[in-house]
Amino acid sequence: MPARLPTPPPEPEPEYDEPEPEYYDEPEADSNDEGYQSEDACIRCHSFAHVDEHAALFPRHTVTSIRQLARDLTAPFPSETEKARALFFWLHCNITYDPATAESTLRSGLAVCDGYAGMFASLAEFAGLQAHKVTGHGKGYGYAARTADEPVPPESSNHAWNCVLMDGEWRLLDACWGAGALMGDAYTQRFAPVWFTSTPAEFGRRHFPTDPSYQLISDEDGGPVSWEDYIMAPEGPTVYGDFHTLDFLQDLLQPATQAIQSGGWVSFHIFKMCEHMSRAEADNYVYFISIGDTKTPLEVNSEGGWSANIYVPRGTSGDVSLNHVTKIDGRDAKGLSVQVFKNSIGRKSMAWGGMCKWTLI
Ligand SMILES: [Zn+2]
Repeated sequence: MPARLPTPPPEPEPEYDEPEPEYYDEPEADSNDEGYQSEDACIRCHSFAHVDEHAALFPRHTVTSIRQLARDLTAPFPSETEKARALFFWLHCNITYDPATAESTLRSGLAVCDGYAGMFASLAEFAGLQAHKVTGHGKGYGYAARTADEPVPPESSNHAWNCVLMDGEWRLLDACWGAGALMGDAYTQRFAPVWFTSTPAEFGRRHFPTDPSYQLISDEDGGPVSWEDYIMAPEGPTVYGDFHTLDFLQDLLQPATQAIQSGGWVSFHIFKMCEHMSRAEADNYVYFISIGDTKTPLEVNSEGGWSANIYVPRGTSGDVSLNHVTKIDGRDAKGLSVQVFKNSIGRKSMAWGGMCKWTLI
């Protein structure tokens, strides 16, 4: 076999006038063309589409060595953040969490997550990045928070992730949870970029490293967090549906606890993942809180998010949900105004999608 394929002969010049090619795929010229620079770029709203597209060009069956793969994936990108992103996305595309072949370690999850974190670390090393594998406890899918009257369990370890130096800043990422999720017994390959872009504080709500220095939370910011504070933290509201794809941030969701006390006013607040994301009506759906048959829209607040204050009579029970209006009269409801929504309740056909749920007590 030749080491490289022979260069094909040049195509003959066409004898007719070819139409001007149309560059459908040409990306819009903007600051992203210069790549990611941590001083002026925001990891939350920077588009990594070009990095993800590149990473998808190297399916696992074509890979001959980890070293070569690391080079192929990262060579086009000058920024460490983009190099790390290419590895993160490749793992999502190519590595399947397979509980069937890891029965003995399924309960701990360590071997499978350890595989993602270990592979990320080796790829990163060959790509010239500084990266460490971190082990500790993860609150994975289906994790049930402890109640305050339960004893504090001993510290345990069941998960692995990575700590990576990206353009001058140490960051945490979870390639295993970024690749997909285990729901019950079924694994779903679903990309979760939030595990690439989380801040250390957000990351720490569901990850507790055995070595506290990997929390990346300084003493001024209240770090390091203790095992007791981490493991006994009350359960937050249940986030589902399009909450993440609509770019909302779980960490700033209010009320922050799963349980809501009836018999008083309750303030609901939601925020996008970063301040650069549009709050304009034209770019958003109507977000509303549903309690029983009552639907209350959230309105843009002065702090950069959406809010609603709702009186919940004592004794009201059941679920409270946050939803977005997806369709009105069969059409996409993006850009619908709050006023039109209010006037349309009970008059027009509307469809909505759930985003978050609390329980009234
Ligand atoms: Zn941003």
